Amino acid sequence: MDGLTVAAAQQCVIEAMKQLGTESVPLQQALGRVLAEDVRANRDQPPYDVSAMDGFAIRSADVANAPAVLEIIEDIKAGDMPSKTVQAGQCARIMTGAPVPQGADAVIRVEDTQVVADTLSPNSLPQAGERDAVSLHEKILGRVQINVVVKSRNDIRDRGENMKQGEVVLQAGTEITPGVVGMLAMVKAASVQVYRQPRVAILSTGDELEGLDEPFDANKIPDANSYALMAQVQALGITPVLLGIARDEPEHLKQMLQRGLQFDVLLVSGGTSVGVHDYVRPTLEALGVQMKFWRVAMKPGHPMAFGVAPLTWVFGLPGNPVSSMVCFEEFVGPALRCSMGHSRMFRRTVTARLARDVKHKHSRTEFVRVMLGKEGDALVATPTGEQGSGILRSMAMAEGLMVIHATSKGVAAGEQVTVQLLDGTEFQTEAGGNW
Ligand code: AMP
Ligand code: MG
Repeated sequence: MDGLTVAAAQQCVIEAMKQLGTESVPLQQALGRVLAEDVRANRDQPPYDVSAMDGFAIRSADVANAPAVLEIIEDIKAGDMPSKTVQAGQCARIMTGAPVPQGADAVIRVEDTQVVADTLSPNSLPQAGERDAVSLHEKILGRVQINVVVKSRNDIRDRGENMKQGEVVLQAGTEITPGVVGMLAMVKAASVQVYRQPRVAILSTGDELEGLDEPFDANKIPDANSYALMAQVQALGITPVLLGIARDEPEHLKQMLQRGLQFDVLLVSGGTSVGVHDYVRPTLEALGVQMKFWRVAMKPGHPMAFGVAPLTWVFGLPGNPVSSMVCFEEFVGPALRCSMGHSRMFRRTVTARLARDVKHKHSRTEFVRVMLGKEGDALVATPTGEQGSGILRSMAMAEGLMVIHATSKGVAAGEQVTVQLLDGTEFQTEAGGNW
């Protein structure tokens, strides 16, 4: 075997990870984090039976032979408390969200009623622009004709139907989505206990590299990896620290790596291969990093390395920009999400139909960068052109990574393939490959 399988390498990484402890964050900054504690409701919500409609709170027995004319005894808006009990032959005008008064057991929406004309006084008659039923109803107490028969509890929202005091409404381990933020606000959680985010450092290595701030030199290779990796980390909601570029010189590299080992996670790109100037692995080992694996049977990404230090998880990523990014997707992203308490760590996969033949002549799992389109109901995956590991454009255009099994002899146009989605915030619990 040409290195560890992708699945075995992923397992090794996830087994080495752990959550990083917890912290309290204001609700305004909680989106995307993971709850570290159960959250309970601190009240019944709604706090009493409320109307689901603008209309009339009635006694259902009174309308059993509708139409029926009822006397309106009160107007109840959301925020009001009813002051009267609805007796036989009576009703209360009620607005959505307002408490249902004593005596009433159902609500009739305003559309199923009509004002009784003889109750209109001259100054309660509709004015121009007030012809609709709601504005007319708003003006008058009096009598109303109910035109429908309803069952008891019609259009009443039960006290506590949304949440009941004391019940666990969100469990520890829940990812905080916008809906969860709404729930947290509803229980007045101004701050929430979440898993801490890792502090991530990124280091590029190579004498040939030119930093973004350095003067243009046509003979150099611009440092793309620092920034592509930065963006991949940012996409997970974490702000990384860029350490810059280490030269291919053991002493300088050592100093830079030492800085990186102050962080929870260190991403080093380049210098992990077999070149005589690839000092990253031996230097990491000299600094006490225990290397867990080196080389994964994948393409791109073969010279990927992973190690652990007392404080730090260290990923030695290949220098080729596409390899570095693909290795991030397969190993670093899941590891970072694991450390933040997510159970959905891996990119979501979809099944698509391959648009054209793709050859496969080696024994490594291959990640082909694809765009996704639709043909009828089917998703169609089209490779993003030249797939060399230095051709970053293939990654820039990609919506997904199509996974080709190590033993595959190639995939023909029209065959079903598994694609890991690169965009969005969708993740899944199982690694989604075909290896
Ligand atoms: P290495 O793994 O150091 O042998 O690098 C493999 C290839 O990736 C070489 O062609 C490097 O120039 C290139 N490379 C390494 N690091 C970077 C980087 N930060 N940005 C762009 N290309 C890089
Ligand atoms: Mg290098």
